[in-house]
Amino acid sequence: MRALEESRLSEGAVDFIDDAEMAVTLEQCRPDSVRVRDIIDKSLSKQHLTVAETADLLAADSPEAVEMIFAAARQLKRDVYGNRIVLFAPLYVGNDCVNDCAYCAFKRSNHQAVRRTLAGDEIRRQVEALESKGHKRLILVFGEHPRYDAAFIADTVKTVYSVRVGRGSIRRVNINAAPMGPEGYRIVRSAGIGTYQVFQETYHHETYARYHPAATRKGDYLWRLDALHRAMEAGIDDVGIGVLFGLHDWRFEVLGLVTHALDLQDRFGVGPHTISFPRLRPACGVVRDPKHVVSDHDFKRLIAILRLAVPYTGLICTAREPAELRREVMAFGVSQIDAGSRIEIGGYTEAGDAQCMEREQFELGDVRSLDEVMRELLADGYIPSFCTACYRLGRTGEHFMEFAIPGFIREFCTPNAVCTLMEFLVDYASPETRRAGEKLIAEQVARMPAGAIRNRVIENLEKIRTTDQRDLHF
Ligand code: SAM
Ligand code: SF4
Repeated sequence: MRALEESRLSEGAVDFIDDAEMAVTLEQCRPDSVRVRDIIDKSLSKQHLTVAETADLLAADSPEAVEMIFAAARQLKRDVYGNRIVLFAPLYVGNDCVNDCAYCAFKRSNHQAVRRTLAGDEIRRQVEALESKGHKRLILVFGEHPRYDAAFIADTVKTVYSVRVGRGSIRRVNINAAPMGPEGYRIVRSAGIGTYQVFQETYHHETYARYHPAATRKGDYLWRLDALHRAMEAGIDDVGIGVLFGLHDWRFEVLGLVTHALDLQDRFGVGPHTISFPRLRPACGVVRDPKHVVSDHDFKRLIAILRLAVPYTGLICTAREPAELRREVMAFGVSQIDAGSRIEIGGYTEAGDAQCMEREQFELGDVRSLDEVMRELLADGYIPSFCTACYRLGRTGEHFMEFAIPGFIREFCTPNAVCTLMEFLVDYASPETRRAGEKLIAEQVARMPAGAIRNRVIENLEKIRTTDQRDLHF
């Protein structure tokens, strides 16, 4: 009975991806510059775009149109979200996997992979290492395997929250793990997770079937497409969608993401918390099909178009990408990045500087330390933030609030960003990073309007500098 209930789809679940219709929509778009301008203006006036409007932006590929889209994405990021970038780190817990996804080094047919699942004390050591670098937000990553059931994931989450090193603590634990049934989601939710991420990998049915053998759990397209609807039905408010770019035509995949986001929004009144857009990376035991490789230029286009299409959804750019490109796309509306990441199991305490392909899911493009990434962000005028306030105060849908509630960023986000930045500077930063950070904080405070919020920010910053008090949030 329990097993049957756990394999149930969400209420009224349907496969809302119509490949043929999406392909026709893409083929038929011939937008002129007036149409592109109108669509951009709609987005800049804080409305999300329809699938057809998104398709028009995807078809607008003249250099002038692309520059117009880039400029609009930069403007939306600057005017609506300001200059905060949230930082997190991935923690790979176990790479056993019953699936056989052709692109992934964890696939069960990859006998070169070194299989391992971290035990409780090993998890604690990884978290201690992450806390002592200054991390406050983690995403836990798992293969799909019966041993990584909801109870195991929930226990892991509780272990992570329990670790304290010095003034450090992990304040938000997100999850990237296989889809579950309703009871499973309720169990992980009660452990206090932040976002639950499941990437569809590709929305194109035929391609999906090619990369995910039918005889595997992941071979069931609808089970996966419906995963986050089930999660929301079970009360998880923050969910993250994503595509693994490089499996099929990137334009089609962007339409898939937007269709998915709008379907969640229609059904639950709120869209996904985040969208991830990993590009396929070299991996142990994996041969890549060059046909759908996404160039850097198209990668930038897809990020800018997603920013305009779903303006109130967070965008995550991971360390799969090289440092220079991450730096560039930050301006297009990326809101979260990971830094100081290691993806070998046990990699935060055991690995040297070189990446070990047999022990990781794929090769990383940016292996700089958290301190180095922070310094670059500061040099570029961003406020690196470890804020977790909304989630902990029950303010879910924070990106929507940032976007829709006048003054929200001024009253909550910027004060929390500068206070969490100050914690990092005092507790973990190199002298150089600290100097750059203190300068930026002083400029931010000087720009705040006089009044109660500014006074409290000044007070909190002083407490952080001179006492052990931490986690002073608005
Ligand atoms: N096993 C779970 C699943 O498949 O949903 C957890 C996620 S898996 C460990 C994390 C994500 O890594 C996948 O959803 C996929 O998008 C991405 N991934 C897998 N192989 C990759 C590769 N070679 N390059 C880049 N990303 C990859
Ligand atoms: Fe397993 Fe996930 Fe890798 Fe597929 S992507 S082989 S499910 S870990």
